[in-house]
Amino acid sequence: MSERREFQEIAHCGGQVIFTVDRGDDGRRRYRVAWQSSRPVPAAVYSIYALKEGIPIADLPIGGIGAPWPAPPVPGCVPVFVASDSEGKFGFQCPRCNQYWRTRGGVSLCPYCGAHAERHEFLSAAQRVYVRLYCEKLDEALSADEDGIHVIDMDAVADAAGKDITKPPFYYAEESQQKQFDCTACGEFNDVLGRFAYCSVCGTRNDLSELEGSIIPAIRDDLNRGAVPSGCLKNIGSAFDTFVGQYTGQLIQNRPMRSARRERIGKMRFHDLVATRRELLGGFDIDICEGLTEAEIATATRSFQRRHVYEHNGGEVDEKYLRDSGDASVRLKQSIRETQAGVHEFANLVLRMARNLHRGFHDIYEPAKGAINRYEAEKKRLAALQRQNGGRSRVPPVNTAKPRLRGE
Ligand SMILES: [Zn+2]
Ligand SMILES: [Zn+2]
Repeated sequence: MSERREFQEIAHCGGQVIFTVDRGDDGRRRYRVAWQSSRPVPAAVYSIYALKEGIPIADLPIGGIGAPWPAPPVPGCVPVFVASDSEGKFGFQCPRCNQYWRTRGGVSLCPYCGAHAERHEFLSAAQRVYVRLYCEKLDEALSADEDGIHVIDMDAVADAAGKDITKPPFYYAEESQQKQFDCTACGEFNDVLGRFAYCSVCGTRNDLSELEGSIIPAIRDDLNRGAVPSGCLKNIGSAFDTFVGQYTGQLIQNRPMRSARRERIGKMRFHDLVATRRELLGGFDIDICEGLTEAEIATATRSFQRRHVYEHNGGEVDEKYLRDSGDASVRLKQSIRETQAGVHEFANLVLRMARNLHRGFHDIYEPAKGAINRYEAEKKRLAALQRQNGGRSRVPPVNTAKPRLRGE
């Protein structure tokens, strides 16, 4: 994915919300609401029900153009259109941890703290203001003596982004974050602060794909290009520390447990593989060494102990290393060295342990099957299409039609 600037304002996609107010045959006030857009930027829209005071209370899934809308959860609710930014993405904010991120819209949990909620509960602070103003505008339209058409001009909102001018009413924009990734499990886009997170659509953590797909390969590249093997071993150890820390951080935050355990795990450094394994097995029934032979576990254990020597003793053997490792091939104060092959082997073992932890974690926190199954079915469909085309690659058709939604 191309590099982009962080924390950049991304303009609203523009468009118009149109309220058409008239009287029915019974003389009572009624309205239709429609959303339309004609700007040449990606645009998407979803809708929610809000109380007429402007408080979002439910998602409003719209089947297709012309399909009837589901009944509001309470009478008198107002349908509100929330449109995307000019990249077709929506901003969201977690009601629990208050952090912000962007996705294409099918959100079900916070990528940072893992809190589950309905989409309308994840509206950002700026979007909530928009919803309130929207409801006020509709209320004004309904209170007017005359029938008529009332427009919320989001094109003006889009045009004002990035300009040092007084912003129009209804103004809001989204903001790019630091890590953009497509979830490997469900294919959905996420743009999050930091680097490691849950996919906010299906709940799969991205740490494993980061470790497997970019962190470890980068270290292996360095190693193959002649970087000092002991430095690479240290980097692999730190990457694994970070990895385990992300999962245990979520576990201690979201699982009930005795405070002593929470504190122990919070402070745990992962140079002691035996202790780490015991803690994860005892606390969460996750065996990070599942499928590893005793010899492989011994190799991994020693690699972590050697990493400790590089980090804390400049590579010279100390008494702790002699005691813990039982390594009889070296003497006190002797400098130890690594081989390229040995460090690659350590990387292999670390990846296997990481996969074990990821699998065990998601056995506890099961990702949402719906999004993942849809993605799998879509991949199968595209593969079948490619086979039909005799193996020629084919870009899936892009829907360029501008959405136009209306309802009553
Ligand atoms: Zn959160
Ligand atoms: Zn996902």
